Formats: sequence, C-alpha cells, structure tokens
Amino acid sequence: MTCFYLSMISIRKNMNFSYWEHEIWLKNIDFAIIGGGIVGLSAAYHIQLEHPDARVVVFERDFVSFGASTRNAGFACFGSPSEILSDLKNQPADQVFSTMAMRWRGLELLRSYISDDEMDFYQNDGFEIFLKDNNDLSQEVEGALNQLNDQAAEFLEFKPYAYTTNDWGFQGVQSVVRIKGEGILHPGKMIQAWQRKCAAIGVEFRYGLTIDRLDINGPGLVIRGKEVAVKNIVVCTNGFARQLLPDLDVIPARNQVLVTNEILERPWHQSFHIREGYVYLRSIGKRVLIGGGRDLFEREESTDVVAENLDNQEYLKNFLCELLGKRDIVVDYSWSGIMGMGKSKGPIIQKMKEGVYVGVRMGGMGVAIGTWVGKELSKLTK
Ligand SMILES: Cc1cc2nc3c(=O)[nH]c(=O)nc-3n(C[C@H](O)[C@H](O)[C@H](O)COP(=O)(O)OP(=O)(O)OC[C@H]3O[C@@H](n4cnc5c(N)ncnc54)[C@H](O)[C@@H]3O)c2cc1C
Repeated sequence: MTCFYLSMISIRKNMNFSYWEHEIWLKNIDFAIIGGGIVGLSAAYHIQLEHPDARVVVFERDFVSFGASTRNAGFACFGSPSEILSDLKNQPADQVFSTMAMRWRGLELLRSYISDDEMDFYQNDGFEIFLKDNNDLSQEVEGALNQLNDQAAEFLEFKPYAYTTNDWGFQGVQSVVRIKGEGILHPGKMIQAWQRKCAAIGVEFRYGLTIDRLDINGPGLVIRGKEVAVKNIVVCTNGFARQLLPDLDVIPARNQVLVTNEILERPWHQSFHIREGYVYLRSIGKRVLIGGGRDLFEREESTDVVAENLDNQEYLKNFLCELLGKRDIVVDYSWSGIMGMGKSKGPIIQKMKEGVYVGVRMGGMGVAIGTWVGKELSKLTK
C-alpha cells in the first residue's frame, strides 16, 4: 500500500502539464503568491486590490494551507508578560514593543475585514498562569510587571497586564496575570473567510501544486519540473521558506497540539499562556486544546516535517491532567504544525529584487500579524 502511494506521488511529480492545462491555468500570471496561509491570502487580497486588472494566483501545495494557519491554537494574542520579558533579554526594547504593537494592529486589521461572528472571535482577555513549581519565573515577572506595563502602554496606549484570581480551578497555581484585549478565534473559519474574500475580487487558486524551485531572475516557478514564467513572485511559505530561498534567516519550529474529549462543565472562552508561551491552552466548547512543549523537545521539534511527536504529546497530556486535577482525559484530536522563527522575532517583509517579494517568519503570533504583513507586502508591489 505504502509503495503504491509513493509511486503515485513520484508519477504525479513527473507528470507533464497538458497544453490545455498550461494554457488556462499557468499562463499570463502577473502575481504568483506561494503559500495559502493567512499571509499568502492577505497578500493576494491586498495585491489584487492594488492592481485590479492583474491576474493574482495563489499556489498552495495542499488542499488547504498545510503549515500553521489552519493548524494553530487560534489565540488572538500579542505577548504574555513572561514571553515579553524573555524577548527583552535578546532584543532591544524598541524592537520588542514595536513587534507587540504590530500584533495588536494586525488583529484590529483582521477584525476590520472578517467579522467576529464569521470567525468565532471572542475578546475575553488572555491569562498567563504561573505555577508554584516555577516560582522563579513568577517572581521575576512580579518584579518587572509595572515597567512592562509602562513600556507597553507607550505602543498600545493601554496597560495590558494586571494580577487577577485563579477562577478556573487550575491546580498548583502561584499567580495569574490578565492580559487585556487578547482573544480567541476559529482558525479554520478565518482562513475560509479569507478564501471567500479573495475569490470575490478575482484572486485565483491552484491548490495541490507544489512549487519545486524558484527562478528569481526569470522570474519564474518550477512546477513538476516545468518552468512557468510569471511577472512577479510573492513568497509566503513561512516555516518552509528555506526550501525555496535557503539564505533566509527562518528556522522551522514544530508545535504539537491535542484536543480532548468534552471534559469541562462550561466553555472558558479565554486563552491561557504558561511558561513564556511554551505551553498554551484554551477551550473549544467543552473540550480543551493544549499545545506546545517544544522547549523540552528542541532537537526533535526543530524541523519543517509535519509529524507527530508522541513523547511531546504525552508530556502535554500529563501536564493538562495535573493542571485540571483530572485523570480521565481522552485525546480526540492530535496534530502538529510548523512555525517560522528566527534570530529576530519580527517578520521579514522584503523586496528581494524587482518582481520578487518575501513575507515570512511570523513567529508564534502569526494570526495577529499575518493580515498586516500581507498588506505591507502589497505596498512593496506599488
Ligand atoms: C501548532 C501551532 C500553534 C500556533 N498557535 C498560534 C496562535 O494561537 N496564535 C497565533 O497568533 N499564532 C499561532 N501560531 C503561529 C501562526 O499559526 C503562524 O505564524 C501563521 O499561521 C503563519 O502564517 P503563514 O501564512 O505565514 O504560514 P502558513 O500558514 O504556514 O502558510 C504557508 C503555506 O505555504 C505552503 N507551502 C510551503 N512550501 C510550498 C511550496 N513549495 N509550494 C506551494 N506551497 C507551499 C504550505 O503548505 C503552507 O500552507 C501557531 C503555530 C503553530 C504551528
């Protein structure tokens, strides 16, 4: 069975396009957007608005985006205090807080295009949970919270962080910080809404076609071994960016996600960050979604291969059992997704040369910045 499947893939890879296929679907392309995640769709939408007569085509190698945009946790977030504190150890404060502001503006832009109802958006704040067994982190944040609030307020125009109570009955909790303005959404509904918006203004889609290589001098794409000339290329492949452009500073990072059976009495409608954002949870109805753990499995999860890491998933399940004080948790769904990280936490939004544009490295908060990055890319094409 596996052999048959593999041989089908290799036949497909070498399958020539017919004259008719080439004529209708691959000719006269003004903008080839590579990647059908939130950034690719936002870029396609804004470029089509910017160039109404252009033929804008999104190339996505799977049936839907198969990286992060439909595989994430659906947090509409801009930075928990311990994550921001950790960023401040590696980057200048201006960069950290301007990236935070970019996330906030990105969320506002997203909500200006897609209604809260359309993507099940709830803005009931986010919460960072500090556990007793990580007392050092909780004390470090306590000492820095006022300053973090003051610095954040310069960029957001409000102070986002305040201590609050553990209203959810989580076990082993030292303290809880509320993050004002954060929310949750349904990533599948968000991407579906973007697809509808793009299609409505004439953007075309080529799902199931992998771009094997770029000819940035052409410019052109190599698909199934065949060179396809296009006028402009816009690369939005995030964690996979180095497969096409090996020199970019984008490091893939895989994240595991689990969704339990219905174990809550009522939904939470809020998001929870733990340990600098390396573990996160929310509810989906009465189910709980938990994800992360990649800091404990760094070697295995530093990859762009979409695959499950059973050890990490076991860790996440045990973590959740302890946090909820439950033993009878059943995992109904599990999956992984690929993020694009780098030395800097900010995105790369770049015109590489005439006709070649790149919007990648969304980090862990691409739901927040993705729309904005797509819009900025379109400005480069003016
Ligand atoms: C498990 C997980 C949880 C996350 N949780 C959150 C969260 O709660 N909140 C938040 O803000 N962010 C979260 N993120 C990050 C966020 O999802 C990403 O930053 C964002 O979706 C990136 O969008 P993108 O469009 O840049 O990339 P992607 O969504 O990864 O899209 C890139 C697309 O390019 C396609 N592609 C790649 N190579 C090729 C090729 N050669 N030819 C054709 N197509 C190609 C891929 O199939 C993919 O669909 C999470 C990420 C993961 C993995």
